[in-house]
Amino acid sequence: MLTPEQIETRLERILLKVQKPGRYVGGEMNSLTKDWDSAQTRVALVFPEIYDIGVSNVGMKILYDQVNQREDALAERAYAPWVDMEKIMRENHIPLYTLESRRPLSSFDIVGFSIPYETLYTNTLNILDLAGIPILAAERGDDEPIVIAGGHSTMNPEPMHAFMDAFVIGEGEEVIHDIITSLQENKPGRASRGERLKALAGIPGVYVPSLYEVDTFEDGTIRRIRPLVPEAPETVTKRIVAKLPPPPTDFIVPNISIVHDRATVEIMRGCTRGCRFCQAGMITRPVRERSVEEVVRAAEKAVAATGIDELSFLSLSSSDYTHILELVETISDRFKGRQISIALPSMRIESVSIDLMETLRERRGTGFTLAPEAATERMRRIINKYIPDSQILETAREIYRRNWTTIKLYFMIGHPSETLEDVKAIASLCKQVLAEGRKVIGMKARVHAGISTFVPKPHTPFQWVSCDTVEQIMDKQALLRQELRDRNIKLSWTETRDTLLEAWLTRGDRRISRVIQAAWEKGAKFDAWGEHMRNEAWMEAFEENGLAPSFYTHRPRPADEIFPWEHISTAVRKDYLYQDYRQSLDGQVRSDCREQCFACGILPVFSDLRRETPGESWKCPEVRSPRQP
Ligand code: SF4
Repeated sequence: MLTPEQIETRLERILLKVQKPGRYVGGEMNSLTKDWDSAQTRVALVFPEIYDIGVSNVGMKILYDQVNQREDALAERAYAPWVDMEKIMRENHIPLYTLESRRPLSSFDIVGFSIPYETLYTNTLNILDLAGIPILAAERGDDEPIVIAGGHSTMNPEPMHAFMDAFVIGEGEEVIHDIITSLQENKPGRASRGERLKALAGIPGVYVPSLYEVDTFEDGTIRRIRPLVPEAPETVTKRIVAKLPPPPTDFIVPNISIVHDRATVEIMRGCTRGCRFCQAGMITRPVRERSVEEVVRAAEKAVAATGIDELSFLSLSSSDYTHILELVETISDRFKGRQISIALPSMRIESVSIDLMETLRERRGTGFTLAPEAATERMRRIINKYIPDSQILETAREIYRRNWTTIKLYFMIGHPSETLEDVKAIASLCKQVLAEGRKVIGMKARVHAGISTFVPKPHTPFQWVSCDTVEQIMDKQALLRQELRDRNIKLSWTETRDTLLEAWLTRGDRRISRVIQAAWEKGAKFDAWGEHMRNEAWMEAFEENGLAPSFYTHRPRPADEIFPWEHISTAVRKDYLYQDYRQSLDGQVRSDCREQCFACGILPVFSDLRRETPGESWKCPEVRSPRQP
């Protein structure tokens, strides 16, 4: 194994030959290099994307802080090297290393991947290979790191089961400590790798795939998923933190310009609006908020620790944060006269108030984003994001009236029971919004329509439905191109092959691991980058493994089918999701459960935690008997 000094020497020879060498040197402000020898446990945290994207990932920052706050452990970072750097690293036999101490990933006790989305899977394999760690978990020896993955994509861990020793299901703040303690109690020499994995399987929220067996029927559907050892529970229920811990503030100040160069404070976790296509909303329940004081304090600390000029308040629907106006007003006062802009991603049309717009007015960019997702009231009922047309137009008018010149409208095509009329309505709604703008600010008004394609995600009410076929998607996109020829309406959409890739990987079963490995061996990586996505490699990989992609994407599921992710629980009951799906077919809307609880299952599972955190930080009712729908 190369020493840090040897890696350093080799790096000096090559760094000026690659793009943006600043990606590979570390030493940034607020990064932490702890003493290697005095740490009992060494954790390499990996974001399988380039530095420019990964360095601002909040999940990584939270884990980095949690581990480095411990006396007995250290955490260091690594990202995916860009294609030029990877090539030269392989030519010079430089294994992937961490930025803090330049140590090879293979020298750490834990290699922890943060994988928010599925198109990072091939990069994950590539990183293991570049680090000299066997990509298959079954081939790792006792002296090799324990490889763990977390992040939203792992809510269906099965496509990646062959490559991970364990998965963290849910939130990582507390479980990372349980994992470190467990591995300290079961150190190599004291316990075999198998014994260490069994110990991990006993931690709530940790899934060890090698300790489960999946039986299937002839047609490939699942007959049964069963644990092989007593330590492995029948169902692995997601882990949550009862009260959100103090947010990270000393963000790493990057060496180079990056994609999201801002300090992010998470104001709220979870969402209870219940949009039926939205996985994040279903898997991050219950809603827990930080107080305004806590958020303002964190924002001040973050600006002081980084000198950054943009603050972003993170949540799934910021305008639903109970004290959003007070927060934005307080921040505006605190930072009066200082060039700090405020970003409030994901505002809901029905809760973005005029006052909020007013307050945001002097600290904002030129564009305002609204996400109706569907253009007809009928479809918005079906997806449970009901807003009257009139309210969308009125909100648009108010936005233009406050001199925003561009409104970005997000839509999805391919929702269940969508008609071409519903698709056509997207074009007419865009034109109506533009017309509102022209009434207020004349020809300066612009609309940008972003059209993605619906993928039925695990653990949502729509997990039983199928994706649109390639032909259906192409027809709908062609119809929109034809209907939207106004040069003041910019149209962008998701490439069909990217939609299908996401669908295979998010709805996949264990057999998809072989497809991922084969596609990677054929050169697939950076699948999230259009110019690098190799569709032919994926097609060949499916063929070689005798699997039909349509089995995963274009096959509606019967009510009683066992899903590949059946043994992974978000605490939201499967029958609750099915009932909600049935209601969608009748266009029935379900209101925000802040107004009334629908007994989705969260409370019985986390009632102890709810009792521990009385008061309004949780948005589920205090533990009392919920009213039936
Ligand atoms: S328990 Fe009730 S209030 Fe809480 S998330 Fe579920 S439906 Fe909503």
